[in-house]
Amino acid sequence: MGALLDDVSPMIYLDYAATTPLSLAALAAMQPYFSNMFANPASLHSGGRAANAALEKARTTLACCVNAESPSTITITGGGTDGSNLVIAGLAQRWEADTDPSDCHILVSAIEHEAVLNPALALHKRGWQLTVLPVTPTGHVSVDALERALQQSLHQPNAQKTLVSIMHANNEVGSLQPIQALASLAHQYGAVFHTDAVQTVGKIPVDVQQLGVDYLTWSAHKHYGPKGVGALYTAGGALTPAPLLLGGGQENGLRSGTVNVAGAVGVATALEECVAAQPKSFARLEMLTQHLRDGLESLLCPCPLVINTPADDSIPGIVHVSVLGNSFPIQGESLLLQLDLLGIAASSGSACHAVALEPSRILHAMMVGENSDRALTSEELARATGTIRFSMGHHTTQQDVDALLAAFPKALNRLMKTAPTMSGVH
Ligand code: PLP
Repeated sequence: MGALLDDVSPMIYLDYAATTPLSLAALAAMQPYFSNMFANPASLHSGGRAANAALEKARTTLACCVNAESPSTITITGGGTDGSNLVIAGLAQRWEADTDPSDCHILVSAIEHEAVLNPALALHKRGWQLTVLPVTPTGHVSVDALERALQQSLHQPNAQKTLVSIMHANNEVGSLQPIQALASLAHQYGAVFHTDAVQTVGKIPVDVQQLGVDYLTWSAHKHYGPKGVGALYTAGGALTPAPLLLGGGQENGLRSGTVNVAGAVGVATALEECVAAQPKSFARLEMLTQHLRDGLESLLCPCPLVINTPADDSIPGIVHVSVLGNSFPIQGESLLLQLDLLGIAASSGSACHAVALEPSRILHAMMVGENSDRALTSEELARATGTIRFSMGHHTTQQDVDALLAAFPKALNRLMKTAPTMSGVH
């Protein structure tokens, strides 16, 4: 386990897809911008110019890390939610200046993060056409499904403006989408293409030019950078979204507000470090992922397990599992709490609302496919309810995975003993 985690608690941390610890190099690089180099990067004095130089250096580093054409294509944002909202709501504002909302169309996959899904639903509420693309049983968007949806869109009487937003990798099951093919197809139909790459930047090579996307958004805290900062790539020639924040016109007018220089330095340092370590860390994570998958498959558990993360076309580091209760449905959250008591930090992977624990909408989409109105069978419902996600990162060791494999049947056995109480959660 990494020093940062050891200092905080002796937990085995297997929730890297939720957030990562800040890299020590990023922390050191950020520190001066909280103290002696605190000046506003928009100030004309020498302190301001020094802060601005650090900001522009960070932008150049970010552009290099994702192979963007130039630093000017990179906007510093407040993270993944901020960036995706800026693209979707900002483009909507531009298009609606000369197009009726009912002639605008947004297509998203059924497994998008809420950072994309909710802005898309907001557009639909004000008249936009919305298509939610189905996914395959492995959690992938097929090029054929997008083509069918785009063809249908063309047949709409006044369809004029079309935005496709499909995530690079899913945060729950880790499925990796064929973005290059999807973006190229969208362009053939005159649509513009955005991808939420929060779960891939820093973990696998991300080359915006090779992917051929118009917009790509990501977040620092998923790749050992600070929370509350991220970046947006806007391809040269793509329409600049309208700003959602109006003010001093920072970031080329796209995102007003004094720029978070320390955050920008942090995201750039962390990403540069991840990219440099990528060949090694990728291979290590692949090995750990396989070790965990093999271990889970051969575990003697009181009830059957299903691994939902596809073996192919997925990012390394994520293993999402369903536990199928024999006599009563298992709640992923209950299992999570039992594992927590045994010193393992994971995530249920499903949306936990204030009053109700809901089945995973990602698994729901994977099971119903094109038949989105179909109700789940009781077995499918159990699979979508008893979910748990383990996500590994730079500090995860094989011993951590072995400790999880030892704790998992214990946690399940404890859960089975509390069956009467747990079933009352429903
Ligand atoms: N998109 C995906 C795929 C994510 O996993 C997350 C965070 O969990 C977000 C967007 C939101 O990013 P942020 O926390 O930086 O707003």
